[in-house]
Amino acid sequence: MIDTHCHLTFPDFSGRVTEVLAAAAHVGVHSCISISTTTADALRTTELAGLHARLFASAGVHPLYADKPCDWAEMRRAGEHPKCVAWGELGLDNHHETPLPALQREVLDAQLAHICAWAREGLVKPIVVHCRKAFAQLVPILAASGIPGNRFVFHCFTGDTTDLRMALDLGASISFTGVLTFPGARELRAAAQLVPVDRLMIETDSPFLSPQPVRGSRPNEPKHIVYIAAALALARRANLAALNEQLDMNAVRFFGEALRAPTMTNP
Ligand SMILES: [Zn+2]
Repeated sequence: MIDTHCHLTFPDFSGRVTEVLAAAAHVGVHSCISISTTTADALRTTELAGLHARLFASAGVHPLYADKPCDWAEMRRAGEHPKCVAWGELGLDNHHETPLPALQREVLDAQLAHICAWAREGLVKPIVVHCRKAFAQLVPILAASGIPGNRFVFHCFTGDTTDLRMALDLGASISFTGVLTFPGARELRAAAQLVPVDRLMIETDSPFLSPQPVRGSRPNEPKHIVYIAAALALARRANLAALNEQLDMNAVRFFGEALRAPTMTNP
């Protein structure tokens, strides 16, 4: 299994990353992607990924951190790190009142413009999207960016079926968190059935969103991905082992071969 989205630079994991990754490996999580939220965090995240063989990183500005210092040259430098497998997370968040929508939009536009420029220079990466109560606004922006739609994943999808249709029509992948395990999330489980199997991903979003049965505890950890996989298999009436294999394949296709499970080699 791969935890495609966690935040291991957060203080919750300070001094514990080795232990947290070992606990995840123990339940079958062979790789994790630690997602960054600011320029400074992108540099920290790539550095952390450099210390752990099966930890990967992203580089980007989260919309809720749009008011933090940002340096695109430093962001590009983080993106050039060999363990950096994606840009983001980037997007729009209308659930929280700050940073103001205009500032979120300004940072989003700049970020997409830089990603396009870096791609023209040969630095091409998939993009992790944070979209909360903003599908009708954000999907057309992503479509107009000129970036191929299949290069986006909507992380922590919690929208309705209309939102889902927009994201799927763009060509994007859809990633589910522990929210899928919450008893009240019937609509979300119904939406999870509608995603083509080759465009599904799962993630913990650690340290947030601990799934059932550890809901409410913090920090959430990559090892809890097993509960999310089980909930997704149940929602889709799928065989868990086959689904896990497909989810791994999807993440490897999307984020790159480096994410492939290490194979046992004979001495
Ligand atoms: Zn996140």
